[in-house]
Amino acid sequence: METLEFQSEARQLLQLMIHSIYSNKDTFLRELVSNASDALDKLRLETFRDKDLTADTSDLHIAIEVDREQRTLTVRDNGIGMTRDDVVNLIGTIAKSGTAEFLGKLKEAKDAAASQDLIGQFGIGFYSTFMVADRVTLVTRHPRSAEGVRWESSGEGTYTVEDVADAPQGTAVTLHLKPADDEDQLPDYTSTAKLTEVVKRYADFITWPIRLAKGGD
Ligand code: ADP
Ligand code: MG
Repeated sequence: METLEFQSEARQLLQLMIHSIYSNKDTFLRELVSNASDALDKLRLETFRDKDLTADTSDLHIAIEVDREQRTLTVRDNGIGMTRDDVVNLIGTIAKSGTAEFLGKLKEAKDAAASQDLIGQFGIGFYSTFMVADRVTLVTRHPRSAEGVRWESSGEGTYTVEDVADAPQGTAVTLHLKPADDEDQLPDYTSTAKLTEVVKRYADFITWPIRLAKGGD
């Protein structure tokens, strides 16, 4: 297992997410579902381009699962996945052009409320999970890699990466949810009713099937 440091801009963004007072925390699910959808698009494209790529494209979909006892929420796809290098380069750093603009505007923001408003205007992507989770685990495998990779972080400065032997095709992102809190406007994302509402709101533009496992309520 390797422990790595987030690049400084990533660190800055993560701190903002962890201490977020931004009220629309639901957006984290939009970001995860859109990443999963992109990953399924990419796999379909890659398998057209490269006939030797061994991947199962018979049942491409997104699954959302909840474990109420563990207070975890998992968003899973059987798409393109990531290699270990991808994980370190894409998740550990900020490669997105929009994020540089976001951070630029953030420096100009006068107060906390103004900073939080910016989160709503820009999609913050994967890091938005730290608005609702105190630990995030990602397990992924790229069809060209024999082994999968497990990434984990509390968003505080460092993350770990390790190879795993039996990772399924694609990516699973597991959020260890912060306790639900009405005052902090943090809904209970283990609630089927809540998840159904959020998925309906954000998933209209997603063409892949989304399977929401029915847990308790
Ligand atoms: P964006 O989607 O705007 O690029 P994100 O922060 O949401 O930014 O994600 C960063 C990158 O991490 C993505 O561009 C993609 O390469 C990779 N990634 C994230 N989620 C997944 C996933 N489910 N499957 C494969 N790659 C992913
Ligand atoms: Mg994204």
